[in-house]
Formats: sequence, C-alpha cells, structure tokens
Amino acid sequence: MSREMMNALVKTARGEENLHYQKWPKPTAGAGDIVVKIHACGICNSDLHIDNFLIRPPFVLGHEFSGTVESVGEGVHDFKVGDPVVSITAVQTCETCEWCRQGLRMHCDDRYNIGTGRDGGFAEYMVIPAKQAFHVPDGVSLDTAALCEPLACVVRGVIERTSVKAGDYVLVSGCGVMGQLTAMVAKLSGAIVFMTGLSTDEKRLETAKKIGVEAVIMADITDPEEELKKRTDGEGVHVAFECTGVTAGADTCLRCLRKTGSFTQIALYNKPIPFDWDLAMKKEIQLTTCIASERSSWLIALRLLQYKLVDPSVLVGEPLKISQWEEGWRRMLAKEDFKILLYPDKD
Ligand SMILES: [Zn+2]
Ligand SMILES: [Zn+2]
Repeated sequence: MSREMMNALVKTARGEENLHYQKWPKPTAGAGDIVVKIHACGICNSDLHIDNFLIRPPFVLGHEFSGTVESVGEGVHDFKVGDPVVSITAVQTCETCEWCRQGLRMHCDDRYNIGTGRDGGFAEYMVIPAKQAFHVPDGVSLDTAALCEPLACVVRGVIERTSVKAGDYVLVSGCGVMGQLTAMVAKLSGAIVFMTGLSTDEKRLETAKKIGVEAVIMADITDPEEELKKRTDGEGVHVAFECTGVTAGADTCLRCLRKTGSFTQIALYNKPIPFDWDLAMKKEIQLTTCIASERSSWLIALRLLQYKLVDPSVLVGEPLKISQWEEGWRRMLAKEDFKILLYPDKD
C-alpha cells in the first residue's frame, strides 16, 4: 500500500537553496500522538536563514502553527477530532535528563524541535505527541493562535526571566515583530515603554505608537541616550530589552540603562559581538538572557490571548498560501510585514 501524500515546504538539505514546496508523506498518529490539520503557520525570522540552527534535514519547515485535531493515536484521551490546538516547539526530548525533569525542555541536548529537527507546520498535516499540545481557549481564533509561539518566546523573556514593575521606564531596542510583542507584554506590567529603530523603520515605529509605546526614537537621527535621559528623570531606563540582534542595539541598551538597571537579551546575534563589560559593571547592570519558550511560557501566552490582554493580530500582513512561500520570504526579508501566515493550499 503506498502512503498517502500531501503538500509541504520541505528543507531537503543544508543550504538556502534547498527549500522546496513538494509532495511529502501525510503523517499518521502513533500511540500518544495527534495528527493536526494545519490551519496556518507563521513565517519566523529564524525560518528565513534556517541553516544557522541545529537542523536535521530533511524535514518540513515551520513551528508557528495552529490547527485542529485530525486523528488521535492510541491512549489519547484529552484531545478529540476537531479540537483546535497549538503546541510547544520542543515536542520531542529525552524526558530523562536533569533539564527535562525540571521542565526546561529547551535545555535538553537531545531535543527535536518541530520545524528544525522534525516535521513542522508548513504542510497540510503534522504529527505531535498529544502531551505537548494545548487546547486553544474559547474565543481565540486559529489565526491568532498561530501567533502564540512568538508571544510565548516574549513571555519567557519579559515575564518569566525579567522583573518589570508598574512605573518602570522600559526601552525596547528594535521594532520588528519581537520588539512589538515585547512592548505589548512589558506594557501589561504598567511600564512606560520607549522603542528605538532607524529612520528607515518609520512605518514600523508608527505601529509601535498605535500599540501604546510612549515614544519612538530613530537612533540614526537622535541619540537615544540623550533623548531618554530627557524623557526619564535624567537617569535612563530601568529595564532594556534587546530585540535587534545587532551590536549597535546592545550598545544602545547599555548606554540608555540607569545604574542598577536590568538588560535582557531577546534576539540572537548568531555570532560573538563586542560588548562594553566595564560600562555594564560600573552601572551594576543585571544581565539576563532567554532562549525560545517553555511550557510555562505557553500557559501564560494562552491566557494573555484568552483574556484579550494582548492582540498580536495587528502585526499580521496579507495572508498567503504555503505554495506562495517565496513571496512570503521576500516580504519578510524586505520588512514589508511583521508577520505573515501561510495557509495550506486547497487542491
Ligand atoms: Zn518562531
Ligand atoms: Zn532531556
């Protein structure tokens, strides 16, 4: 019996050219699994240059999915056909190492993330262990649910790894999707949020104003340190979130922080960068990092969506089909959209 096939965006080998929209076996549910009928899957900036990551080709790309349960495997009782679902990214880990036992799955050395280590969401269907899935809360659309993954990553950095208090001055360096989500989540704590970008980011900085950022600073025109000293009490911000992954962003955060402030790195640099440690020490800056998200981050992110505390759907551009992925890549690389959702083609 030949296996049923579906359409998928497959990373066939290392190298940027090795990404193809093609036929791929339709997954089936083993014991404890659910097969998800994909509703949508968002393009992540990490998808654009996926070779930078620990990948295991061939696999179906995409980790920012939402969908409904298509079928359930033996022993699955908490999900039934038709249920709307999302899931964490590190769905497959060893389950026995110290980090797995502590629930810190991103630290398992033997992890297979969806969309890098095993088949992801740019397809008609995908299979995941049911125990790593979440029910999408009532009132949250599947379009919005597809944004839960980037939101969970921001929750990890802003809520779980950093302390932002009401009345804190906060700087978000970078006005891309992670910067905008970081601003939204920081504002929930009652912080006064500023954002830096470049003059070429004018449109994106306009969005920031719409979501309630107090002021945006074009760092190539106005010195953020001077400007923020004026806008705070002369001391700079209490907390800085670095969401650009470029050296200048780290430098801006460090300079704009007040003494004893805290610095959280949200974006990856993908290379070593110079950093003024002496300045950080003289100010007694607290440095924090975060990597992706854990199950705990997802539970918070889902509640933020359920109770409409954040609305990430304002960051989504015109929808595309998975077969139009090249246009999606182009728009993301040209920074025309913060986020694009790709939908399975109906054929
Ligand atoms: Zn992502
Ligand atoms: Zn482990």
